[in-house]
Amino acid sequence: MKSIDEKLRPILSTVIHRNFGEQEFHQAVHEVLESLGRVISKHPEYADEALIERICEPERQIIFRVPWIDDQNDVQINRGFRVQFNSALGPYKGGLRFHPSVNVGIIKFLGFEQTFKNALTGLPIGGGKGGSDFNPRGRSDREIMRFCQSFMIELHRHVGEYVDVPAGDIGVGGREIGYMFGMYKRLTNRYEAGVLTGKGLSFGGSRARTEATGFGSAYFMRRMLGTRDQTFEGKRCVVSGSGNVAIYAMEKIVSFGGKVVACSDSDGYIVDETGIDLGLVKEIKEIRRERISEYPRLKGHGTYYIKDGSIWDVPCDVAMPSATQNELTGADAATLVKNGMVAICEGANMPCTPEAVHIFQESGVLFAPGKAANAGGVATSALEMQQNASRDSWSFEKTEERLAAIMHNIHDACAETAAEYGAPGNYVLGANITGFVRVAEAMRAMGVV
Ligand code: NDP
Repeated sequence: MKSIDEKLRPILSTVIHRNFGEQEFHQAVHEVLESLGRVISKHPEYADEALIERICEPERQIIFRVPWIDDQNDVQINRGFRVQFNSALGPYKGGLRFHPSVNVGIIKFLGFEQTFKNALTGLPIGGGKGGSDFNPRGRSDREIMRFCQSFMIELHRHVGEYVDVPAGDIGVGGREIGYMFGMYKRLTNRYEAGVLTGKGLSFGGSRARTEATGFGSAYFMRRMLGTRDQTFEGKRCVVSGSGNVAIYAMEKIVSFGGKVVACSDSDGYIVDETGIDLGLVKEIKEIRRERISEYPRLKGHGTYYIKDGSIWDVPCDVAMPSATQNELTGADAATLVKNGMVAICEGANMPCTPEAVHIFQESGVLFAPGKAANAGGVATSALEMQQNASRDSWSFEKTEERLAAIMHNIHDACAETAAEYGAPGNYVLGANITGFVRVAEAMRAMGVV
């Protein structure tokens, strides 16, 4: 609490008290409040009419039962969530996560972060998040379909093109979005393409949406490296995860001249000093849906797999944690700094613990928080909504060009705000203040609602 302005401490106390046990949510609020002391001393009006308290309280939280029948004909029950956090800037927008660790605290932390992230894109989208404690691992395609259909039977009452527009996240990719869209269409008897993003290209999806989060993080990193006259050229890079964000971050890093030597999944990591073969990773994770441990067996010579170890032990110049929250600890951060890492960019949401972020900031390495660096996914989702609204479909090049421009704008806005508030190079502060001010301005104009 000490790092928070004393006027804001009661707000955090209330959040902790009111959302008992929701540690990830407390952590996310704590991190944003740390940045806001400087704002309210310059603009005390932002603390009027309990504005910050209102920003910390979701507008609506929906929790529901998701019954479905597995391949053995047994009834399974999962819990579904949708947290509609803030709609000051537009319809709620944010992904759905299917993972056994999902609970209301995790969804709230993600929805809170999403509100500021979406504001950073400069596009008209509010913040929301949802998901289920359903574990897709090992489930057949039919089971996934039945689960998605049951999930949508409840969710459809709460979403819509002008209301709330979900997308993918961990465990939810194009296949799941397709099944959910199919059920939404059937239930509503409407072809409302803009109700979900991350759709397949054959039914209203946007080119470059699949690649957008990973590509966007790499664009952000390249711009950030540029502030120190550096590039990706010849840099050793480590990217955690091997899902949607990680795969396309790696792809863009390679196109920018970097060399990715390690990636992971939730069981362990692989090292390939010749450079990770992305075609093989895609085949293992996206087509065969197998474990990353298969990689050395298929690639052979010069590669290895470490089960349960920390991928951050692999020396690198650039790191991109792109798997999940709190995956990079203070000890990992110390190792990365000791090994000479120069820059780190969060591809995932809140993958670095507060201790890790503190170590990076103290050591002077470049550090980009997820709400800025991974905003390319939701930005391209908003571009998908634009294409759906105008019944249009853009080329890959046009969409990627828009994505690159948005990422550069986010980078520059964060850097300029950090400098304006007396902390040049502090992207955490820059992102939190820029996002907050945009949401706060809209909320002030709309009165107490
Ligand atoms: P995917 O499900 O496609 O991939 C997640 C990857 O992270 C997998 O390799 C998975 O391994 C690994 N992982 C998941 N949970 C854990 C864990 N507890 N410990 C270690 N590794 C784990 O998800 P995404 O790539 O879409 O999402 C990754 C991160 O990026 C998340 O934080 C998400 O919120 C964030 N994000 C995603 C966006 C998107 O557009 N998809 C947009 C912005 C942020 P395994 O295969 O073993 O499950």
